[in-house]
Amino acid sequence: MTTHSHQRICVLGAGIVGLTTAWALANLGHSVTVIDRHGPGEGTTRANGAQLSYAHVQPLANPSVWKQLPSLLTQADSPLRWELQADPAQWGWLAQFLLACRQGRTDRTTRELLTLAAESRQGYDALMAGTDIACEFNDHGKLVLYPDAASLKAAERQMGLQRALGAPHQRLLSAAEAMDTEPALRHSSATFAGALYTPSECAVDPHLLCVGLAERLVQRGVRVLGSTSVQGWRVSGGRVCAVQTSTGEVEADAFVVALGMGSRSVLKPLGLRLPLYPLKGYSVTVDLNGPDEQAPRVSVTDAARRVVFARLGNRLRVAGMVELVGERLDIAPARIQQLQSCGASWWPQAADWRQAAQASPWAGLRPATPTGLPLLGRWPGAPDNLLLNTGHGPLGLTLAFGSAQRLARLLA
Ligand SMILES: Cc1cc2nc3c(=O)[nH]c(=O)nc-3n(C[C@H](O)[C@H](O)[C@H](O)COP(=O)(O)OP(=O)(O)OC[C@H]3O[C@@H](n4cnc5c(N)ncnc54)[C@H](O)[C@@H]3O)c2cc1C
Repeated sequence: MTTHSHQRICVLGAGIVGLTTAWALANLGHSVTVIDRHGPGEGTTRANGAQLSYAHVQPLANPSVWKQLPSLLTQADSPLRWELQADPAQWGWLAQFLLACRQGRTDRTTRELLTLAAESRQGYDALMAGTDIACEFNDHGKLVLYPDAASLKAAERQMGLQRALGAPHQRLLSAAEAMDTEPALRHSSATFAGALYTPSECAVDPHLLCVGLAERLVQRGVRVLGSTSVQGWRVSGGRVCAVQTSTGEVEADAFVVALGMGSRSVLKPLGLRLPLYPLKGYSVTVDLNGPDEQAPRVSVTDAARRVVFARLGNRLRVAGMVELVGERLDIAPARIQQLQSCGASWWPQAADWRQAAQASPWAGLRPATPTGLPLLGRWPGAPDNLLLNTGHGPLGLTLAFGSAQRLARLLA
């Protein structure tokens, strides 16, 4: 506890970003209320890739996009899909995204994300040491598998750049060395040229973590209001006095908007236009019912197919794809099939990959900014006592604790 003056703070959103924000604020002694239309971690956080990817923060907006875009947009089973819509928000976002693909911008973003990720790691380490939340946390490290010499060479360049920017220790491995690091790869029918290994990377079940965090918050006196939709604002004299919800008004001294993609529509009535666009992705989670030595312990990324695997106890999370298709959350069977066949090619005996119904198909919307940097703190034109903590795109689980701590410091 510190000596900061206590405030009543209302955190909107009980995804990983809202809950870690509430945690950081409660640590400073504030009186905190969390509001969500569902329960904890039911939004984009629910079944994401589960990776605490502190070193692998290269933004989606990077110079290689220009070269890869034509093939990514035309390949039949491409991980990227873009549906051109009559939506100025989509075109505006894409234009800003392409501008952010310049080397200088990418380097600056990478440096800032590495710093934020390192701060976040401290928060996670303290949480894991100080609480007993059962969330399948593991620190077995991460292997990114590259299909050919050219992609391995590019990974080496990126590793050099990230090392200069202060990234955690990484090293390149031959295919044989990667198999020594993760012996389950010996059973795979897919091939790869080599790998980038980051021993310090972690994984965690994001939904279990959110449920556990919410329980601990309630024990510490935080009010967590589920099944409560944010519908509007009562503003007076340039300040928000109360947020209007489906269950009545909630007054507070300050408000933090951590509503993921929901932040965009909730802030429109205040005249704010956030540069957020949903990048849709998919996951499946399978029970590992085959021989244990055939299932990976280390987190693995298939760089060619852009699919990630994370071990969560006796389950394996398989996640990937980026679709620019608006806020639709329907689950495309072809995408689920793609994830399952990717899993079956790497870990054929580890699970029953044909049992689609048992694989918990899921889709979520990454709340993404064009650069990849989250929107953190006061926003131009917003009421004085309203702060943002959103827009973490593909890295929200990783960055959540870092941005929560920064936001709590801003409020202090
Ligand atoms: C396929 C996929 C894989 C991913 N893999 C990883 C990964 O491996 N590592 C990583 O770091 N990140 C990953 N991400 C990104 C990460 O999931 C997101 O960045 C993160 O979940 C965003 O968290 P959030 O709390 O901002 O949003 P959310 O989890 O969406 O939380 C926002 C909350 O606001 C609530 N809400 C919205 N509107 C309203 C309203 N009007 N009233 C009340 N409540 C409302 C929602 O119910 C929700 O609970 C992945 C994402 C996807 C889709």
